[in-house]
Amino acid sequence: MSKTRRLTPETVAVQANHYVDRATGGVVPPIQPSTTFARDEQYRLLSPAHSYGRDENPGYLVVEEVLAQLEGASGALLFSSGMAAATAVVQALHPGDHVVAPRVMYWGLRNWLVHFTAKWGLPLDFYDPGEQGSLEAAVIDGKTRLVWIETPCNPTWDVIDIAAAAQVAHRAGAVLAVDSTVSTPVLTRPIEHGADIVMHSATKYLNGHSDVVLGALATAKNDEFWQTIATQRAEAGAIAGSFEAWLLQRGMRTLYLRVQRSSESALAIARHFESHAALSAVLYPGLVSHPGHGVAARQMQSGFGGMLSLRVRGGAEAALAVASRCKVFVPATSLGGVESLIEHRYTIEGPDSPIPGDLLRLSVGIESVDDLIADLEQALT
Ligand code: PLP
Repeated sequence: MSKTRRLTPETVAVQANHYVDRATGGVVPPIQPSTTFARDEQYRLLSPAHSYGRDENPGYLVVEEVLAQLEGASGALLFSSGMAAATAVVQALHPGDHVVAPRVMYWGLRNWLVHFTAKWGLPLDFYDPGEQGSLEAAVIDGKTRLVWIETPCNPTWDVIDIAAAAQVAHRAGAVLAVDSTVSTPVLTRPIEHGADIVMHSATKYLNGHSDVVLGALATAKNDEFWQTIATQRAEAGAIAGSFEAWLLQRGMRTLYLRVQRSSESALAIARHFESHAALSAVLYPGLVSHPGHGVAARQMQSGFGGMLSLRVRGGAEAALAVASRCKVFVPATSLGGVESLIEHRYTIEGPDSPIPGDLLRLSVGIESVDDLIADLEQALT
């Protein structure tokens, strides 16, 4: 191998950036639980990078360096949850800055945006991610400071063209932030398409085992906006625990295998059920019939992700009955774990939800796809 050849992101993920502990030779990083770090006789920090637990932890650095490489970013920051990461971006804005966000997106963030922006004097407009020109119409030249996108959009899986959104945002003088939780860097690297900030709920695919709540941001540029976000994390303290950070570095080692397997199974399930008599629609960007398929095929590499939705004939009651008949899919909220989940989003989101009552969201895990298809067949029949 030539000395200058860069490792692929897949290898970087598997080896946690070729991690070797300098003190012991261990191939797995140790957990550093200390909240404070000692000084020498001259009162200098023994390790200049470490002073207090809220500023930094060696366990975060391992994860942040790996994520930055996977995203092709100039830096990354770990947060205590996906919401903490997303809200840090919005909290870096100034009063009066205009924000635009998709009408269909992770509902927790949509609700938070509505309340926070109203209280903090940030004008907010929603656009329709499935409607041509809607984002462009929502953006105001010189006023819009943040364009938020999520692609594919949860749970209809509308696909937003990141490069086109970046052009719209940058023309107006705004930052483009992408919730890439569902795509993961395995399928899409938003910075390569012009995004400024990439956000992940690391609770989902990055960790992949439904046993950690964490979030992360990655940035194209180490600029003033990014520094404001970093300061916000250190001062407001939305930091990860050292054990959680360690679990995340372990989970990320198998990210590529898990996402590839989930994507293959989701595509097989979508194709199998596309014309099922009990369903009025299967929403999955990997299907040629999906309106976002063309953009997805350009923007997502090696698969279309592990998330899809089914619209059940007979409305909310019929959809709930299908979820309750599943024996392999676990009826639970969340996504991106090794186990497959089925979820009635309308029940979770409540009466203000724009999500139709007949929709079931599937998070396809890494079990045998035959078991998953058989389970849905029996539940739909
Ligand atoms: N973004 C997406 C797409 C999500 O699905 C979620 C959680 O479900 C979040 C953000 C929020 O992440 P967390 O639950 O880690 O705070």
